[in-house]
Amino acid sequence: MPELPEVETTRRGLAPLVRGRRIATLTVYEPRLRWRVTRDMPAKVAGQRIVRLGRRAKYLLLALESGTLLLHLGMSGNVRAVPADTPRVKHDHFDLVLDSGLALRFNDPRRFGSLLYTNGEPNGHPLLAGLAPEPFGSAFDADYLFRITRRRRVAIKQLLMNSRLVVGVGNIYASEALFRARIRPGRQARTLSRAESARLVRSVRAVLTQAIRAGGTTLRDYLGADGAPGYFRQRLYVYERRGKPCRRCGTPVRAMTQGQRSTYYCPSCQK
Ligand SMILES: [Zn+2]
Repeated sequence: MPELPEVETTRRGLAPLVRGRRIATLTVYEPRLRWRVTRDMPAKVAGQRIVRLGRRAKYLLLALESGTLLLHLGMSGNVRAVPADTPRVKHDHFDLVLDSGLALRFNDPRRFGSLLYTNGEPNGHPLLAGLAPEPFGSAFDADYLFRITRRRRVAIKQLLMNSRLVVGVGNIYASEALFRARIRPGRQARTLSRAESARLVRSVRAVLTQAIRAGGTTLRDYLGADGAPGYFRQRLYVYERRGKPCRRCGTPVRAMTQGQRSTYYCPSCQK
């Protein structure tokens, strides 16, 4: 599943290609995505200039002169910039053709992705309005993490992955951030000290930053904006390294299951 770093990598790859460009046409081949692409959408966006390509959580936000397109990659989607006459392949669902001759082409085998148009302020859209703080935003800091962990018995890793508390920290990044912060993933959230909360905020940001720089982790079916794979995966400390020596101390990495997801940690480095 594309996670926040992959979406941000896509945004950074596409932004220079779309900014200031006019939309020639929106051609929809398969409207049955997670939500049906509305019939009137092509007419609403054609001829409009793209002002900015932003992101909120895992939504790409194409700010137009009037309104905003919200694009979500779902479980298996990717969007790439290709010459508009590039032959389509299976699971290509729409082309947003630009006046430059490039098309943003959306491919999504499982069709959990979505394309929505909103007239109003995008952050007021029902899908975005209730979202928790961004990991890089000022609202996600040591005080916030310390406060939200106080009375929660849930494991800290599961709290980190709860998108109602902070968005965009998926399984890989939660495992890696907890390793860097030297905190065991199974600990009750309420046992975190203030210093550990600060360390964990820093670690979450560091792990995500590194993944974005590397172009996402490229697990399974993700491709970057230019179709190139990312290299973050080679730098993982614990994720999917069960039984292998910890890169810091050499102790074999352990694995456990939390909320049906695999968690990896070093029993010696993480307390
Ligand atoms: Zn270790």
